[in-house]
This record gives sequence, C-alpha cells and structure tokens, in this order.
Amino acid sequence: MKPALKSAEEETRLRDWLTARGEPAFRFGQVQSWLYRRYALGFDRMVNLPLSLRRELADRWQAFSLVLEQELSAPDGTRKFLFRLADGACIESVLIRSGKRTTACISTQAGCPVGCVFCATGRAGFVRDLRTAEIVDQVVFLCNALNERVRNVVVMGMGEPLLNLSELIPALECLCDPGRLGVGDRHVTVSTSGIVPGIIELARFRRQWNLAVSLHAATEALRRRLIPAGHRHPIAEIADACRTYRAETRRIVTFEYVLLAGINDSDRDCRALADLSRGVGAKVNLIPCNRTEGRFLSPPRSRIDRFAAGLRYAGIAVSVRQSRGQAIQGACGQLHRVFAGSSGQTPED
Ligand code: SF4
Repeated sequence: MKPALKSAEEETRLRDWLTARGEPAFRFGQVQSWLYRRYALGFDRMVNLPLSLRRELADRWQAFSLVLEQELSAPDGTRKFLFRLADGACIESVLIRSGKRTTACISTQAGCPVGCVFCATGRAGFVRDLRTAEIVDQVVFLCNALNERVRNVVVMGMGEPLLNLSELIPALECLCDPGRLGVGDRHVTVSTSGIVPGIIELARFRRQWNLAVSLHAATEALRRRLIPAGHRHPIAEIADACRTYRAETRRIVTFEYVLLAGINDSDRDCRALADLSRGVGAKVNLIPCNRTEGRFLSPPRSRIDRFAAGLRYAGIAVSVRQSRGQAIQGACGQLHRVFAGSSGQTPED
C-alpha cells in the first residue's frame, strides 16, 4: 500500500525525493499548496506540475487516504459522509452549517473501544486507530466539498480521541498550522469520555484547544450503568484532570451531558451535575438523546428546560445543543450501522 502524504515523515521523504530528482525548490511548496489550500484529492488535479511528475508522485504516494462511500444531506444543511479506509474499515464525518458558521465533526478511530451503552459507535465495537493522514483528510475533504476553508473542527465523531493521542496531536498541529489548513486553536474542540491520562497529556501541550468531557452522569453509580468498566475513570479523577487542563491552558472545560429520559434527567441528577461543574468551573452542554435504537429516549422538552433551568439557578453556564442532521442519522456511528447493515459488512469484517 502506498504511504499517505499527510504526515511529517512522508513530507520529509517527499522533499528529499524532489531534491534528488533535481526539481526546483518551489515544487514542494506547490504540492503543499494543492494539498492544503486547494484541497486537491489527487495528484491529477495539480495542473501546474509537469504531467510526468504527477504520474511519478501518484506511483509513490497517496494524495488522499479516504474513499467516499456515501453522502447524505439533511434539510437543515447538515451533510454526512461515510468513508472507506484502505483496509476496508469505515468512518464517518459530518459537515454542519449554522448560518455562516461551518463545523467539521471528525472521527479518530474506526469504531470505539469505550462502548457507551447509548452510542451506536460504541455498540458496533472497535476496529482500529486512525492514522494522522486519515484524520487530516476528513477535514480536507469537507473543505473540498464546501469549496472553502472549514472554520471549526470538533473531534466528536467515531472513537475516543484521547486513546489515539499519538496520531491526533500531529493531525491537530497540521489542521492548526497557518501554512496548512489554518484552523484557529480556539476553533478546535476535542471531546473525550473522560480518559484521565489523555486529558493530562493534552494539557501539557498548552494549546488553546477546547476540551469537552462527555460526562453523561455526575455520580459513579449512574456512570457505571452508561460506560463499561474498561475505559471508565473515577469522576473525582476526571474533575482533577479538568482542573489541570484549565490551569495549563486557561480554557474553560465543557461537560457534555446526553439527557436520557428516566435515567439521568432527574432533579437529583441536576444537583449532582451542578455541584461537579461548580467544583471544576465547567460549563455544561445538554444534548437531548439522539434516538439510535429506541432503547434510550430524549426527555420531553419540559424536562430538558427544567434540567437546564436547575443548572442556571445553581450558577452554571448551560446551553442545550440543537439537534442537527436527525434525518440522516446525525449521531455518530448511525450511518455506518445503516451502511454496514445494507452491505452485509461489519467493522469486524
Ligand atoms: S459516545 Fe464517544 S466514547 Fe462513547 S462509545 Fe460513542 S464514540 Fe466512544
């Protein structure tokens, strides 16, 4: 299999190869410009390069590492893409438009080893970590689809990003490099289910990336029901790690809280979440459950409003996420499951 070009190692190889071939010094910059400024998905697009050079490049490297399998568009403008990777694994990316704001929601793993019980990806199991190029290429593709630079990136698609930090960090550095995709640090949000060592390691980079922690429960007993033991960390340790992240980066942490009717939406749950959020200085983003199989349902609007009001009354900054892309299986993992079902393929195939 040809190596994907979007990694520091392969870029060095490319530069050396161009030099050894006697190409002018600007050639490397031309290729980079096509890859990151004009979102080229193949060397054939690079028309200011000699044809023979384009062919030789294509023989040696992949300019783009994903194959689009399916695209769905929702009436609200949300577009969802299913990609197949070189080894056959599938991932999803979502392009969300809200007014002039464009946001890319990207995956970091094929499947997910955490296995949250309410999540389609978690139920489908884990396949593998994504490579740096496969993470970057999702954003490149969405820029190409949009024909302009994506301004915001949320790492909230398939997978647990902090279990793939060694590939995620170079990908984020590439996305935020002003000479490449130029996304502002403060326009990147990394979402974790609460992987404590990963939060602490991410804090050490002292970048201005936003951290969102998908808490979903403010008590250990409830969290045990929602997240299997393998990758579940104690709430007190998550809170400490969030305080470290805040101290190192000066960024406010967000607690993501999927509201599940009759499970984590009581007044008592609200008080526990308020206490925890106050202790960390976190704001809260409430996410009405996106129905995936009918086992979990969103609470009625009146209960969501009461829960939000309870947090506000306790002095916590709170927002309620607008559900987008429901017509196209907007929650992570749903499109993949529909596709896998129709093609007879599963992540384990
Ligand atoms: S919610 Fe996130 S961490 Fe949990 S199983 Fe789904 S993708 Fe993994």
